[in-house]
Amino acid sequence: MRKPIIAANWKMHKTLAEAISFVDQVKNSIPSPEKVDSVVCAPFLFLERLSNLTKDTNLKIGAQNMHFEQKGAFTGEISPIQLRDIGVDYVIIGHSERREMFAETDETVNKKVHAAFAHGLTPIVCVGETLEQREAGSTNAVVGAQVEKGLAGLSNELAKQVVIAYEPIWAIGTGKSSDATDADEVCGYIREVIGKLFDNEVAESVRIQYGGSVKPDNIGEFMARPNIDGALVGGASLEPDSFLQLLEAVK
Ligand code: PGA
Repeated sequence: MRKPIIAANWKMHKTLAEAISFVDQVKNSIPSPEKVDSVVCAPFLFLERLSNLTKDTNLKIGAQNMHFEQKGAFTGEISPIQLRDIGVDYVIIGHSERREMFAETDETVNKKVHAAFAHGLTPIVCVGETLEQREAGSTNAVVGAQVEKGLAGLSNELAKQVVIAYEPIWAIGTGKSSDATDADEVCGYIREVIGKLFDNEVAESVRIQYGGSVKPDNIGEFMARPNIDGALVGGASLEPDSFLQLLEAVK
C-alpha cells in the first residue's frame, strides 16, 4: 500500500505574515504521517520560518525549485545544501511553469533530482502534456519521455522514493481538472514506464500525484483511482480550511 501524499504548491503567493498565519492555523490539525504525508511548498523566503514553526508537527515543508549545484557563482539561485540546512524536506522539480517560463529542461530536471537525493531532499518531479499534445494523441509519449529523462541514472533504491506529479498543463489553474479516469490511465502508464526503467517493485512503490485544479470537492474522485496516490494542489491549497479539507479527504 502506498501512502498518500498531498502537497500544497503556493507558487508566488502570500506575504510572510500570511504564510505564518496559515501555518499557525493548520499545524496542529494535520493528520498523522502514518496516514498521509502533508507538505507545504512555499516561496524560498518563508522556508526557514515555516520549517521552525512546524518542527514538532506533522506538516513538512518543501521548496518549489532549487539549483542542482551545491554552491558557487550562480547569482539568485538556491542550493540543495541551503534548503536542507534550514530543515526543508521536499522540493518540487520541473513544474510546467518553470519548464515554460524559466527554461527548465528534462536535463536540468534530472540533475536536480540527483542533487536533491544527494542532500536528503525528496523530489516531487512534475510531468505533463500541453493541450495540443493531448489533442494530437501524444500524451503518453510526452509524459513517458519526461519520466525517462527525469529519472535517468537513479538507483532502484532512490527511484522508489521519488514522488511524481502528473499535471496536464491545460488543467493547471484553469478550474478544468482532468477526468479522473483519464488521469489514472496516464498515471498507470507512468508506472509502466518506471517498471521498464527500473523494475516492478519500484513501479509499485513510487507515489504518483495528480495535479491540476484539484479541490476539496473533486479530490475524492482522483484518490479513488488505483494509480493516483495524492495531489499537488495550487489554488485550493492557499486557504487553511481548504488545505485541511484536502488532507481530511485522503487520510
Ligand atoms: P492548481 O495548480 O491546483 O491551481 O491547478 C496545480 C499546480 O500547478 O501544481
